[in-house]
Formats: sequence, C-alpha cells, structure tokens
Amino acid sequence: MTRYIFITGGVVSSLGKGLASAALGAALQARGFSVRLRKLDPYINVDPGTMSPYQHGEVYVTDDGAETDLDLGHYERFTCVSARQSDNVTTGRVYSEVLAKERRGDYLGATVQVIPHITDSIKDFVLNHEGDEDFMLIEIGGTVGDIESLPFLEAIRQLGNQIGRDRTLYIHLTLLPYIPTAGELKTKPTQHSVKELLSVGIQADILLCRADREIPEAERKKIALFCNVAPEAVISALDVKSIYQVPISYHEEGLDTQVCKHFGLDDAPEPDLSRWREIVERVTKPEGEVTIAVVGKYVELLDAYKSLSEALIHGGIENNVKVNLKWFDAEVFEREDVVHHLDGVHGILVPGGFGERGTEGKLEAVRFARERNIPYFGICLGMQMAVIEAARNLAGIKGAGSTELGEPEDPVVGLMTEWAQEGDIQKRAKDGDLGGTMRLGAYDCKIKKGSRVSEIYGSLEVSERHRHRYEVNTAYIKPLEKAGLSFSGMSPDGVLPEIVEIPDHPWFVAVQFHPELKSRPFEPHPLFVSFIDAAVHQSRLV
Ligand code: GLN
Repeated sequence: MTRYIFITGGVVSSLGKGLASAALGAALQARGFSVRLRKLDPYINVDPGTMSPYQHGEVYVTDDGAETDLDLGHYERFTCVSARQSDNVTTGRVYSEVLAKERRGDYLGATVQVIPHITDSIKDFVLNHEGDEDFMLIEIGGTVGDIESLPFLEAIRQLGNQIGRDRTLYIHLTLLPYIPTAGELKTKPTQHSVKELLSVGIQADILLCRADREIPEAERKKIALFCNVAPEAVISALDVKSIYQVPISYHEEGLDTQVCKHFGLDDAPEPDLSRWREIVERVTKPEGEVTIAVVGKYVELLDAYKSLSEALIHGGIENNVKVNLKWFDAEVFEREDVVHHLDGVHGILVPGGFGERGTEGKLEAVRFARERNIPYFGICLGMQMAVIEAARNLAGIKGAGSTELGEPEDPVVGLMTEWAQEGDIQKRAKDGDLGGTMRLGAYDCKIKKGSRVSEIYGSLEVSERHRHRYEVNTAYIKPLEKAGLSFSGMSPDGVLPEIVEIPDHPWFVAVQFHPELKSRPFEPHPLFVSFIDAAVHQSRLV
C-alpha cells in the first residue's frame, strides 16, 4: 500500500525543498521502506531542456532520456533510486497532453477546464507508478501563493480526499528568519504561508522550518497554535555543514518519526543512519585536500553544475580528501595569461556546455593541462575541446573546430544527423526544434582493452547518460591517433567516439557523456574517484 507525502514550500523560494524531500526519502529508506520521489513543476516549459542554466540551474538527464529538474539529481544521490521521465512533470507537459487529447476528441464534446481536466491529468501523473513503493514523495515546485501553482495544489488537495487522509501527508517547508534587533526567530511569515495553503483547502500536517538556530519551545508552541498542528510536528530544519548530514539532522529533530506516526507506523524500526554518519565523518574530517579548476561558462550560478560539484565531492570522499573547487569563466583565458590562473591546481576539468562563448579559453585550459602534465578531465563539450586542441596542436590540423561554433575548415566535431538507440534510428535536422532533439539518456559504450578507462571502470562495456547534439567526427580518428590521442571508448556500432585519452599523460581522459549524473555518495563514479586520485598524486608533486 503506497502512502503519499506532498511537500510544498512557502515564505521564500530556494529553501532547499528538493534537498529536504530527498533527505526525508533517505531517512524513510533507512527505516527499511521503499521510496520514489517525484517533482511537479508549475512553469510552462514542457521540460527544462530549453531553459538557460542561469534561469534554472542544471538540467538533470535520466537513463530514459528525460531532461528534468536538478532536484531529481538530489533524489537519486540521496536514495540511489534511478529517476525516470515519469518522475518530473511541468504545467507545459500537462497542458500538451490535455490539448492533444482534446484534439483527438477524447473528451467527447465536454468543455475542457482546469478543474477537472488539468487537475485530473496532474492526479494521473502522481498516481501512475509501476512499483508498489511504500512511500511516494511528491515535491511541488515554486512557492505557495504563486498563480501557476494553483492547479497543482488543487490536485493534491483532491488527492487527500480521494486516497484518504490516512494515506496522505502534507509537509510545508517554511523559513523562520532571525531578526537580530529583536533577538528572535520570527514566526509570522510561517503563519501567513500556512494560511495561504489553508485558503486552497490544504491543512499542513508537518511544518519543516528552516532556521539558523534551534526553535525555542515558546516559538514552537506559538507556531503550533496558530498553524493548527501538534507542537512535535513543528520541526527545525537547521543549517548543516554538509548536505549529507541533512537526513541525520532531520531524524534527530523527529521528522521521520512524525511521518511514521501520521501513518500509524508507530512500530516502524528506528532508521539505520550509520552509512550517512560515515559519509559525514569523511566529509568533515578529510586527511588532505586538492584543488580542481573547473573551466566553464555558467560559473556565477553554481547550481548550473550541481551534479558535477557533487561528483567531485564523492571522488574526494573516496580518496579521503577535501576537494576545493576553483571556478573559472573560460573567457578569462582568452584575454589573460592562463598560467597565472591555473598554476598550482591539481586537476583541470572542462565540463559540458553549449555555444561559442569561452571555447577558445577552454582550448587554452586543455592545452595547459596537456603540456604541463596536469590531470585533465573533459566532459561532453570538454571532450570536444580536448579533441579540437589535440587536432590543432598535436596533429597539425590548424583549421580544426566544431560546426557548433562556426564553419571550421576541418569539422573535427560536427552534427551527426542520425544515431541508433535500441534498434531505432533517431534523426535530427540542422534547422529542427531545439527542445528534445539531442542524443539523450543512457547509451552503451564499448571500451578498448588495455586502456586507462578499462582499468578505471574494471569493465569493457559501460552505460552512461548523454546530452549533446554534436559528435567527434570519426573521419579524423586516424591522424588524431597518430598524434597520440587514443579513442578508448566507442558506441557499440563503432560510429560515435565516446572516450578519448592520452596514454602518455599522467591522467588525461575526456568523455562524451555525463558521468557526474550517475555518481552517488555511496557509489562514487569511478572516473571521478580516479581523477581525484590523480589530483592527489599531482598535489604531492607541486
Ligand atoms: N554543445 C555540445 C553538443 O551539443 C556539448 C553539449 C554538452 O556539453 N552537454 O554536442
């Protein structure tokens, strides 16, 4: 029997609802329950695939090829349950489906309305899941009071009646700001937010209150009184040093206990949080540190590289070191002296990215890493850059470039117009739609025997997630291999280069896929573990 937990947010945005949901999922899992997390996003884009990383942070790609909200990355990292296309829905997708049905005549002449048609479609999305999970945790994006959220709140309100209140729970995440002049945590914004939720018919059962200090008993009672909840159901969500401490902290504050109580699961076993404690121990007490330079484009908004920075931390956890990240906007390397900025770092990483801006700077960073024997890790665009750099400076193909960035004399990276997945040929046109037209999701990659990556993975066949339009052009493999670049991973049909490495370099690996999407604190991605290990070696040299 599946129970449904709905998580809404109030007062201000960016309170970390995704993380809160993921951490609650982890705490319930630690009690032996099975969980799945989903996100309802009220914006009108069909998916976040076309949104700028500056607007919405990273686009998280699932195995089944969905471009989803970055919160799904938190869900996977905290629960190790692989997210699916069906775990993220937006207003845009809901409306597309309802409109398609209307055009097909499925509504049999009815007037199509927000209630019941849009709300029914949202409810179907919540209820349609294959597994018989003990808990479905449904996060509602945005903040209560937003116009766009209304149909979603209405749908989850209806679900409370439909499924029964004994099988549904509403958690509201709010903020208790501390006002120094008054010397108090203020409860009023929370009271207003809970009232706002009540005005659409939802009585919160548990209040999760973000605060920078413990909530004094008097304030807790006050919130309980005004917001119509039990005092024990007012939970402090305190700031912690590492995000991996959140499941422990929530448990200590009684969140999962209240959840179990609500559902009559008083006999549920205490959670075994030992593995979380071990991770936190390692994060907070590293034995050393390394510095990695990330040379990217969207460096002012670090949410744009969420999975990447987490994967680097995971690599650090496995090597017992703290990973300091130095973020560089690649453009600086086009104007200034690269050496001065990159000297002394223990590893250089060029992550995924789109468009021309900063690419010449990225090429300079690759060159610096290659020539100075500094560990280099290229991801997606970072692999394309590595190949172009090798073409220009090792193979002497001076006009090497990517057709994404102009009209190069030698299109070492270009647009493939079709590729195969599970026997189906997928096509993409140069002037086609931008949304949903990339090579997306999990694809197999065959690894060359004896290569560095074969050792790192300990396997000759891997599956990794992709999100790109352009490919390294196989017509240039021969001269590039002659110049010292090894194509150590290819698609199973041998048509698409997946991994390149330089065997004569301490650590130079570049991949067309996004390994960071599959890294989890308990299952750190082998490429990140190996890269950080190489950085540790480098740190002993400099
Ligand atoms: N812009 C490149 C492409 O579309 C790389 C994409 C990426 O780095 N995710 O192929």
